[in-house]
Amino acid sequence: MSGKLRVLPLGGLGEIGKNMTVIEQDGKIVVIDTGLMFPTADMLGIDLVLPDFDYLRGRADDVEAIVITHGHEDHIGALPYVIRELFPEETPPVYAAPLTAEMARSKLEEHKLLDAVEVIERDCLEPWDAGPFSLELVHVSHSIPDACGVVVGTDHGSIFLTGDYKFDQTPVDGQPTDMSRLAELGSEGLLLLCGDSTNADRAGIAPSESSIGPHLEEAFARCEGRILVTSFASNIHRVQQVIDASVVHGRKIALIGRSMRRNFAIGRKLGHIYAPDGMVIKPKEIDDYPDDEVCVICTGSQGEPLSALRRMANNDHGQITLHSGDTVMFSASPVPGNERAVNETIDRLFHIGATVVTAKDAPIHASGHGYREELKMMINLTKPKYVMPIHGDFQRLVLHSRLAEEVGIDPDDIFRMENGLPLEIDENGARVGDRVKSGMIFVDGLEVGDVEDVALRDRRMLSNDGVFIVVATVSEQSGEAIGDPEVIFRGVPFMDDADDMLDDLKITVGTSIADLAKKVKNSEGVAESELREKLHNDVARFVYERTKRRPMVLPVIVEV
Ligand SMILES: [Zn+2]
Ligand SMILES: [Zn+2]
Repeated sequence: MSGKLRVLPLGGLGEIGKNMTVIEQDGKIVVIDTGLMFPTADMLGIDLVLPDFDYLRGRADDVEAIVITHGHEDHIGALPYVIRELFPEETPPVYAAPLTAEMARSKLEEHKLLDAVEVIERDCLEPWDAGPFSLELVHVSHSIPDACGVVVGTDHGSIFLTGDYKFDQTPVDGQPTDMSRLAELGSEGLLLLCGDSTNADRAGIAPSESSIGPHLEEAFARCEGRILVTSFASNIHRVQQVIDASVVHGRKIALIGRSMRRNFAIGRKLGHIYAPDGMVIKPKEIDDYPDDEVCVICTGSQGEPLSALRRMANNDHGQITLHSGDTVMFSASPVPGNERAVNETIDRLFHIGATVVTAKDAPIHASGHGYREELKMMINLTKPKYVMPIHGDFQRLVLHSRLAEEVGIDPDDIFRMENGLPLEIDENGARVGDRVKSGMIFVDGLEVGDVEDVALRDRRMLSNDGVFIVVATVSEQSGEAIGDPEVIFRGVPFMDDADDMLDDLKITVGTSIADLAKKVKNSEGVAESELREKLHNDVARFVYERTKRRPMVLPVIVEV
């Protein structure tokens, strides 16, 4: 019997986003998904958040395959960064279903990595080997075509990672989740199910994607001016339904937003999107048509700061200026964490005079993730020995665990895990192993990982309480102050009596320097770092006593 099997989530647990799971046996590894997360409002100046994949560093030779379940950013988005950081020389093959593979290529190309990576397309139900593992994709329905779960065959049994899924009986492409293969996995005897928990808090069954089309059409019928529909750019079936509604109502389509145009092109190329000839117009042609003959499909459904819709709402988009009479339809729900940005966007649209229709006003959005009854169905079909809920914040992981209990899984066989905690399985059973390093890597502009927690804390401090810069000139020999210190501050609230305070602050700085100068006389010189630290502490204490604020304090010492 071979060594133990480890299933190690590096991302996606206790959070929604940056999914990444490592499966390891006999020192060999497959990685399922390399996702990213968008920063929350308190992550100032951060563009993207990646899972901390330090566990894989130096193990390039051991990674046999990377499998991507589907083309959403929280599953595919970190791929270029993972490749660049972990595999500087030889890259393991990346496997995915055709549309996902095409999206992976497009991403790698953007990062100039396409030549370095072999992206291999796999059809569902055609297993292949990767080191000691056998791998197989199983089709699931979701809010993007070609979504899959992954079966990982190991010496101890099979693991099924569901990817994101719902049991949509009438998906737009006519390809429901492959229930017969799932049932087969159950009758073959499944060792472990790692299931999507995103909607573990919603009762019942998610509405079918194909129920959206008629509601969109109805909503279109009520509009007399231009229509703008915002949705996830990757939601190709939704884009198709918007096109269909536009055809019915005699409207041309304009695509705005880079990812919207790119995904439209990929979807069209692979036959997932159909638009009649002459239907799609360029953004700059919008004004050539009467308002009631135009429909714009744009990015920005999550209120993303640089997205097309956000810029339109700010009256800051070069190609289109919104005005009263326009109707903006949000054919998407805010991902948890994005609610505030979405509300801000909506409010600005109201200010402009546009009509706003959201999923609260009309059923123009359906989630791509199954609700509670569907999660139960997944467990009942696959009949796993062990269950490990993934893809959800802690609340949803717990709710998913309870569902597993409800359908008869032994509570001892349900594992509520965290990022960095491996589940270890051998012939004696399954248990939680020792924690490994996990967390977040920040991408700041184009740089990966060199923005540490310190930088974030600094930015937060600066944004709340501002900054004090104290410039002191001291004698190199005696350590005594030369002339008055200079004090500069920016963004510090409550500085009304600043003049008074500045004078006192200069006295504090002077005392600090004099204190240390005394020490210089007694001993051998003064370390600049010591003076800087003392100045920092004294100034910080002074400012706190006066303002009850903790601005950043930056002492600058000039020795002459
Ligand atoms: Zn997804
Ligand atoms: Zn997802």
